[in-house]
Amino acid sequence: MTDKSEFDSDLLKTAASQLDAVAARLGLEANIHERLRYPRRALVVSIPVQMDDGHTEVFIGYRVHHNTALGPTKGGVRYHLEVNLGEITALAMLMSWKCAIVGLPYGGAKGGVRCDPSRMSTRELEHMTRRYTTEIMLVIGPDLDIPAPDLGTNEQTMAWMMDTYSMTQGRTVPGVVTGKPILVGGSAGRREATGRGIVYVLYQAVHSLGEELRGKKVVVQGFGNVGGVAARMLWRDGAVVQGVSDFKGGVWNGQGLDIRALEEHVKEAGSVVGFPGADAMSNQDILEQPCDILLPAATGSQIREDNAGRIQARIVIEGANGPTTPEADKILRDRGVLVIPDVLANAGGVVVSYFEWVQGLQFFFWQESEITSRLQEIMARAFTRVWNASKKENVDLRTAALMEGVRRVADAHQIRGLYP
Ligand code: NAD
Repeated sequence: MTDKSEFDSDLLKTAASQLDAVAARLGLEANIHERLRYPRRALVVSIPVQMDDGHTEVFIGYRVHHNTALGPTKGGVRYHLEVNLGEITALAMLMSWKCAIVGLPYGGAKGGVRCDPSRMSTRELEHMTRRYTTEIMLVIGPDLDIPAPDLGTNEQTMAWMMDTYSMTQGRTVPGVVTGKPILVGGSAGRREATGRGIVYVLYQAVHSLGEELRGKKVVVQGFGNVGGVAARMLWRDGAVVQGVSDFKGGVWNGQGLDIRALEEHVKEAGSVVGFPGADAMSNQDILEQPCDILLPAATGSQIREDNAGRIQARIVIEGANGPTTPEADKILRDRGVLVIPDVLANAGGVVVSYFEWVQGLQFFFWQESEITSRLQEIMARAFTRVWNASKKENVDLRTAALMEGVRRVADAHQIRGLYP
């Protein structure tokens, strides 16, 4: 079942080489470096599902725990055709660093099922989710490993997972997953968390540069959960959001777009394209316009070797996971562009997931104002730590962030010692 292609993942190669570079800088002990290169445990399961036409299809699913030195593991579940063990392992490793960078008591995990959810009925998805949950029951639990939504999964998926787990325990266990609907234990402010976290980080970043956010010219790629929330907040706070794009194309207004009106347009038209009071512009051109801040919040590998030289933003803040390829990252760095990396910038989602987990364990739910103020404090503190480390070590923010994350996990190993 796990042939060579299972491990064939560019993401895993990149994650391992990033770890190797950081380990060398930190002077990590060889044995700890080696332990961090591999997952703590990885489970591969087969998931038979009776499809609507009566035949039984067997899907392959995964759950990988990268590290447990700081606490139980946390990470999303993705439903996608390209899911394999290598990719899931890499994503679990990146979650370890992300959680450590923002100071959460979690190790990293990731899970997934190789499938095309867009071609499956709700009934098929529910059956697959329930059987997947049952198969990975061995390794999940509120004090063991806490899944969350990712590509191809959503609040409904988490509700099914929570229900399946709870049925086997004979009681409701809200702390087993996060990203649930609010009615069954989800947290206020979870949907907005990643976009808000990005803006809190931006505040801190421009402040560190001795500037302010008001009046800054901003371009946002992707107008979904992350890009849409961030664009709305930046607009409300006086930034000039000149360009926004989605998968259908982009719109541009040099004087600034009215984001509330744009949201209304998207509700009607299903896309930013055709928004009155703005010029049409291709997705690619939008990325390359002169601006102060570029927020790629759509998909991976949008800034590559072939277009990085034409990016004219002073600051790139990564809302999406992996929007900048390693080659492009070097080009931007050499050109003096400040890149605020995904592991730091988009960590607001996992921070509020952590709040949801805490609320679920205590059956005590917080007001949204409490959630946003705690989120702001955590994001600002994490940025400042990474910023100061980058100055002290004379490295870019991505290296500094990874150094922070890896060092915390390595220190936890050192303090806990080696069992037995
Ligand atoms: P979403 O599906 O709500 O929105 C994605 C947006 O990007 C949509 O507007 C879509 O039209 C647009 N888009 C897709 N392909 C595009 C392309 N090639 N060019 C321009 N626009 C394109 O997704 P989301 O939840 O906002 O997530 C966006 C990114 O942020 C993803 O990479 C995701 O992994 C990452 N992320 C999300 C969260 C979260 O909490 N939602 C947390 C961390 C990271």
